[in-house]
Amino acid sequence: MIIDPWLLKLAEPIRLVGLGRKEIAQHLTDLGEELRIEPKKVRMRTKQIFHWIYNYGVTDWDQMTNIAKPMREKLAQYFSLERPEIVERLVSEDGTRKYLIRMSPGVEVETVFIPDVSKTGALCVSSQVGCTLTCKFCHTGTQRLVRNLTPAEIVLQVIIARDDLGEWPTTQENRKLTNIVFMGMGEPLYNTQAVGDSLDTICDPEGLGIGRRRITVSTSGVVPEIGPMGERTSAMLAISLHAANDELREQIMPINRKYPLKDLMQACRDYPGLSNSKRITFEYVMLKGINDQPWHAKQLIKLLKGIPAKVNLIPFNPWPGTDYECSDWETIEAFADQVNRAGYASPIRTPRGRDIFAACGQLKSESEKKRASDIRKDVRASEELS
Ligand code: SAH
Ligand code: SF4
Repeated sequence: MIIDPWLLKLAEPIRLVGLGRKEIAQHLTDLGEELRIEPKKVRMRTKQIFHWIYNYGVTDWDQMTNIAKPMREKLAQYFSLERPEIVERLVSEDGTRKYLIRMSPGVEVETVFIPDVSKTGALCVSSQVGCTLTCKFCHTGTQRLVRNLTPAEIVLQVIIARDDLGEWPTTQENRKLTNIVFMGMGEPLYNTQAVGDSLDTICDPEGLGIGRRRITVSTSGVVPEIGPMGERTSAMLAISLHAANDELREQIMPINRKYPLKDLMQACRDYPGLSNSKRITFEYVMLKGINDQPWHAKQLIKLLKGIPAKVNLIPFNPWPGTDYECSDWETIEAFADQVNRAGYASPIRTPRGRDIFAACGQLKSESEKKRASDIRKDVRASEELS
């Protein structure tokens, strides 16, 4: 596509942060003449810019000292390094940080940084605004899908956390943001392409440099996407299981009607690279009187037979309007012991950031699905204000 530079001069600068190598190269090619970048130099310039953005986290073109000033000025004219607005930033007493990020008018997502006890920490990123699935115990499930996030919007969640933690450059030692979990808002496997593309940038060793083994993609069980996602990303897999028989799982997770346990477990057995060192994590939320009895644990053990697995027991996190309650502590411990005795690691996940409503299943933004005309109205209003 040929873009008339005159039109671009009139338009808002294009945000380059969040984009992958290919897209950056494409923009430089499109504007090659205007920027005076020869086609054979596009690759080299892309490499430089990519490195400045994702290794150093620069926010100003003038910081790119290996690019001559006149070219920096031109780049600044067409492209921006600006981050999206952080509408709210909350820090829990346990150190968990939650960001509400406005990607565009009416499109707000939550991202949560969970510091670990050791040196590591995980960033819980969102893949969609809202969710089409309606798991009964999940707060996000009560928010209709607004839209899928783009690869850049997923990458930007990592950038914002890095900015806030002061962890530039990437090569800095003892970084706390070491792991990424797709356990925020939305179902990543209903947005597999964007998740895959975002990981190319997040895992690029010359960029944000997070190893693929440190990425976990969690799914409620979108069976046909599990294998392709594994092939494409080499990420670790987590399955939101929560029940080990179809009848109960259907009640609490309607997706089970479409993809029953038999198919889900087969997709797990076939997961690319599955081995004892690349086990699947099965998440199991402890719901009082629903799925927490010894016979439930027995069914779970039977279901997992032969799969290199680990079970994460998640105490249910309450949210306004829910009818569920969290199982008693003794019940959770007894369940964990039973699973553990059968040979599966079964840690009980300590709830993090409950005081700032950042724990599993508590995320929900105010974004509602709007008609395009309403969004245009919002854009006009915000332009008038600025
Ligand atoms: N949609 C994906 C990614 C979200 S992950 C998925 O469902 O896997 C969020 C995790 O928190 C999932 O395992 C989800 O089942 C769990 N969860 C949802 N609501 C919860 C709640 N209220 N308390 C504890 N865990 C919850
Ligand atoms: Fe969606 Fe996952 Fe919540 Fe289910 S648990 S409603 S799939 S975000």
